[in-house]
Amino acid sequence: MEFNIISPKTKSELLAAIRREKHFRFGAGCTDLLMELRKKPNENLTIINLSKVIDAQFTGIKKSAKGLRLGALFTAHNIVVNEEIQTGFSALHNAALSLASNQIRQVATIGGNLCTASPSGDISCALTALEAECEILSAAGKIRTVPITSFFTGVRQTALKKNEVLYGIAVSANKKNAKNIFSNFIKVGTRRSMECSVVSLAYHIQTDENGKIIKAGAALGASAPTVRFAKTACEFLIGKNFNTISQKDKEDFAAKVLSYASPITDIRATAWYRKEVLFNISKSIFENPCK
Ligand SMILES: Cc1cc2nc3c(=O)[nH]c(=O)nc-3n(C[C@H](O)[C@H](O)[C@H](O)COP(=O)(O)OP(=O)(O)OC[C@H]3O[C@@H](n4cnc5c(N)ncnc54)[C@H](O)[C@@H]3O)c2cc1C
Repeated sequence: MEFNIISPKTKSELLAAIRREKHFRFGAGCTDLLMELRKKPNENLTIINLSKVIDAQFTGIKKSAKGLRLGALFTAHNIVVNEEIQTGFSALHNAALSLASNQIRQVATIGGNLCTASPSGDISCALTALEAECEILSAAGKIRTVPITSFFTGVRQTALKKNEVLYGIAVSANKKNAKNIFSNFIKVGTRRSMECSVVSLAYHIQTDENGKIIKAGAALGASAPTVRFAKTACEFLIGKNFNTISQKDKEDFAAKVLSYASPITDIRATAWYRKEVLFNISKSIFENPCK
């Protein structure tokens, strides 16, 4: 397989390359892209290698009163070792930690995870539970933002247009009056590592000092054509007490999460199994919460 690879070093070189090239794909860590091109070789393809672009907004993380902004080239490893994410957003930390292996995490980027739009994308699932916003940069240098819930439009399809690149992801700060954050990423796979999710669930639930739920986010992975935000399940939790929630409410919550699932049977699991697991892990989040 031969490609023409170009490696812009600045944002303006990148934008010029996007405007100039006709038949191209972006490559960041290339952990997904190379697998895809090996299966489906693509003649005369130019790869615009993003990994050499020097631009702190593209590669770094910034904290503000509004929350965190992560560049699309921020890697899974960068997430794992970031203290702010470790303490405030365990769902994202644990999702990144569960991705593949240490070697792959060094190069695999958030942008690549989102843009490959796999229903089993672990970082995508956590960022969906966090209701992140996607910052998209056009070839003309203009930025538009899209809620992550509208970013995934189908299996391996996104809201990105041909000449757009994902530039960053914004995650809102936890609420000021949140006293407890229950946040986790649960991944069920056929092995413990180097394995895509068979089913996954990310949640990020904030309570006041009495345990009353004041904000809730939950997303399911590998259970539908795209990662999905379980909106009605999240709304159902508001006002309930996390510590004393009844068995019926746990099951109602799990049933609402399940209503977003339309899994397939494939080589890794049957649709029936995926639904059973999703229901059970959804119900269990109140019993083994991760703070
Ligand atoms: C052995 C192995 C194990 C894996 N295990 C897991 C796992 O456990 N969990 C999991 O979620 N994933 C897993 N993956 C998939 C992959 O590693 C992740 O999806 C990773 O985050 C992709 O990032 P990347 O930077 O390598 O993307 P790339 O391969 O560089 O790109 C992926 C796609 O996104 C596009 N793209 C990349 N960056 C941008 C951007 N900024 N703007 C627009 N388009 C862009 C590319 O054109 C391409 O279509 C695994 C892959 C391998 C090979």
